Amino acid sequence: MKEKKHEETALSLATVYLEKAMQAPGCPICRRVREAEERWIWNVLYELTGDPKVHERFATSFGLCREHAALMAQVVETRELVTPTGTARLYESAVAHVLHGLANFRTKKGLQREECPVCVVAEEAEERESWFLGKLLADPAFCAAYEKSDGLCLPHFLSVWSGAPKKVRAKLLADFQGRLARLLVHLRELQRKERFDVHEPPTPEEIASWREALWRLGGMSYPAPLIRRG
Ligand SMILES: [Zn+2]
Ligand SMILES: [Zn+2]
Repeated sequence: MKEKKHEETALSLATVYLEKAMQAPGCPICRRVREAEERWIWNVLYELTGDPKVHERFATSFGLCREHAALMAQVVETRELVTPTGTARLYESAVAHVLHGLANFRTKKGLQREECPVCVVAEEAEERESWFLGKLLADPAFCAAYEKSDGLCLPHFLSVWSGAPKKVRAKLLADFQGRLARLLVHLRELQRKERFDVHEPPTPEEIASWREALWRLGGMSYPAPLIRRG
């Protein structure tokens, strides 16, 4: 009973956040994953830079991967209450660990890198949010809001589709095919109208189509943190 209540609360929270993400530009799952990454980095920098378990994790993963290291820099530079010192403190452990590993370095096996902790957070968020979105699409009102949104990128169409209830799958596939078919027309029209002998101006959708193609097939990237406060 308690578990059921917990599941209902989790689902209604997920509904609120996903609805909000669907009102913003681009893929809603990409946005939710990115928010989870930023929240984790901020929390660690704000209150866990003295936590031995976090230090151990940072040491064995040799810090963060390239993408998440860049995100940590952005969080430090733009968010309140976190400072470069927190990053220095965590990376002290990582650098010392790598240096120790190099002391008797003979082969690459002497330096085995564990997965970046923010990559793990991202994978979990991706799985969780995809599952929720698939489940929520069974609700006609939610589904209508989804259809009005920018929709999913290809990697997240695949993750939502594979976890979605059977009755949702056909609709989701038809929606995604429709989006790609429209994109294809826009991409072709943009090229045609760019020709010197054609004097028709491209539409806003056609002008935006090359950027849409980049995120639609590859996933979203964000030039700055999505969360600004707290
Ligand atoms: Zn996505
Ligand atoms: Zn990473």
